[in-house]
Amino acid sequence: MPDPLYLDYAASAPVREEVLRAVWPVLTETFANPASVHSAGADARERLEWATATLASITGAREDELVFTSGGTESDNLAIIGRALAEPRGKHLIISAVEHAAVRESAAYLQRHHGFRVTVLPVDHTGTVDLTALEDALRPDTTLISVMAANNEVGTVQPLDTVSELARSAKVPLHTDAVQAPGSLSIGTLFDRTDLLSLSGHKFGATRGSGLLLVKRGVALEPTVVGGGQQRNLRSGTQDVASAVAVAVALGAAEHERTLLGQASAEHRDHFISRVLREIPGAELTGSAEHRLLTHASFVFAGVNGEALLVDLDARGIICSSGSACSAGSQDASPVLLAMGFSEPLAHTAVRFSFAASTTAADLDRAVSVLVEVHASLTR
Ligand code: PLP
Repeated sequence: MPDPLYLDYAASAPVREEVLRAVWPVLTETFANPASVHSAGADARERLEWATATLASITGAREDELVFTSGGTESDNLAIIGRALAEPRGKHLIISAVEHAAVRESAAYLQRHHGFRVTVLPVDHTGTVDLTALEDALRPDTTLISVMAANNEVGTVQPLDTVSELARSAKVPLHTDAVQAPGSLSIGTLFDRTDLLSLSGHKFGATRGSGLLLVKRGVALEPTVVGGGQQRNLRSGTQDVASAVAVAVALGAAEHERTLLGQASAEHRDHFISRVLREIPGAELTGSAEHRLLTHASFVFAGVNGEALLVDLDARGIICSSGSACSAGSQDASPVLLAMGFSEPLAHTAVRFSFAASTTAADLDRAVSVLVEVHASLTR
């Protein structure tokens, strides 16, 4: 049997070789605490300064607009809880119905413990946020809007340009969970439109447990991790220089791939989607066909259990996901698909394929052939 084909990059991506090469000397040579006064500390500080300057140039953020975190969850927590506690205003949050649990649960925490009201914006059948509902929900004293750049389960890219215009004219800060964006969307453009932007290193080839929050200058945050006051007192804890370097190298590579290989990825994706829809009876694409991540294809397969399909595909060397990684193993239907109007039984048939810029058309053709056979065996 050929090597397994990994098609679950939206859950986690392998560490890039150039990241490993950059991180090795940081872990073995310039490993000192970057806050130390001695020369070894200065060497570590230099690597950290390099990572910070590199990320500022990739994202268009100023160096003092970057906060290194442990990943997407922490970035979302700090953006939403940190912002709401720093400036509660009318204690009113607006989030979309398709946000990741890290955003949903941050809002729920503020509701439970700090008396915030949360407006959840509906989405249409493609998972696109209802802009009229946003306009209606906005109040002058709304604390924060959080709308993701693109959805992890169905790949839909949100109309953040319009969301941003509405937020700006109401003078309400805007956060975006851009965890799925690298490689598909320009992080610089997204940060131009927003006040707070979350990233997770392991989604674009950095090491696990690395992440970033971009915070526009002047947007105050209450820290959610407190201690020694590192990172301008926004996120305490000895700074992880290796993670910072990993995120800088990996994000640079992801942005490079987007500009160089984005068009090819979109073509591979569309060819894959059209073959699946043509060759598998009852298959339906979930998410938007036009406004979609470059390397993401997701479907429901009426009458077939998504988990069973996933297991049989895995046994045949095709590794994918039955929904979001976080809800895998749970018996509940995906709240994202339910919000998009899919019935509960249909939501249980969801399967997601997410690939890399390096995934070839032949790889995806192999995945379709196996999928056709596995699907036929489960419906026989
Ligand atoms: N937000 C989105 C859209 C995600 O897809 C994920 C991970 O699946 C997260 C946040 C959480 O990121 P992390 O795994 O780095 O905590």
